[in-house]
Amino acid sequence: MGEIRVLVAGAAGRMGREVVRAVCGESDMVLAAAVDRAHVGEDAGALAGVAGGEPVPVVESLAEAIARSSPEVMVDFTLPEAVMGNLRTALQAGVSCVVGTSGLKEGDLAELEALCGERGAACLVAPNFAIGAVLMMQFAAQAARYFPSAEIIELHHTGKVDAPSGTALRTAQMMANAEGSRLAEAGPDDQPARGQTATGGIHIHSVRLPGLVAHQEVILGGLGQTLTLRHDSISRESFMPGVLLGIRKVRGLQGLVVGLERVIS
Ligand code: NAD
Repeated sequence: MGEIRVLVAGAAGRMGREVVRAVCGESDMVLAAAVDRAHVGEDAGALAGVAGGEPVPVVESLAEAIARSSPEVMVDFTLPEAVMGNLRTALQAGVSCVVGTSGLKEGDLAELEALCGERGAACLVAPNFAIGAVLMMQFAAQAARYFPSAEIIELHHTGKVDAPSGTALRTAQMMANAEGSRLAEAGPDDQPARGQTATGGIHIHSVRLPGLVAHQEVILGGLGQTLTLRHDSISRESFMPGVLLGIRKVRGLQGLVVGLERVIS
């Protein structure tokens, strides 16, 4: 098999630049195109701090970029309001997608499943591409079988546009849906400082501070004891092994797949 041709949407953003750098460092992948609304015309490699190589200018139109560069995989790290438009364009063109952007709702996932069916492309959506975070979510779901109460504190950089984070919402969902989940006691939720109540009555607290990247604590409480699970992404590099794995695996997937844990063997 030849190199995987990768288009990066959101290539000028914090995560997009990291993805550009990661893709350029792999021998079985090539950066086919870079799409963003900012830094149009600038070399995506230079923006990402990659030395040498063929320049790949940032372009604004995703449809044109797909037509010109024939990518096999699109990686999307854009914004909640942009992601579905991008995915419609890519999947309808038969381009498989690896999606890290947060903000996708249940209805969006149903639409993505249908879009995948139209041209036989696949779509991998992962609320968190860091292996440690995926394990934290799985351990939290496991622990939900033994504790009646849990709360989540998620901490991110100040540039994050959504709250609570997609990872926190997914964690709550996995804990509530875990087989034999005992989560039942949510505690009072009529006080503003108690955070937002998510699936399973789990309260989520969002902290936004400069200096942070992406962090989460799940605290479970039971009779006379608590269990704290904590994960810290201290740099955006933490997400790249998961993104690269997603790019390699998505071509062999069918339809919509949600969660990095579904492709880690
Ligand atoms: P950012 O604001 O730094 O970057 C977003 C980029 O998207 C910007 O450059 C913006 O110009 C661009 N953009 C906006 N609309 C666009 C469009 N229609 N087409 C192409 N580009 C467009 O944000 P970020 O910190 O890089 O985060 C991006 C997303 O990734 C967020 O939703 C964030 O929550 C999510 N995220 C996910 C993970 C994960 O592991 N799944 C990890 C970190 C961040």
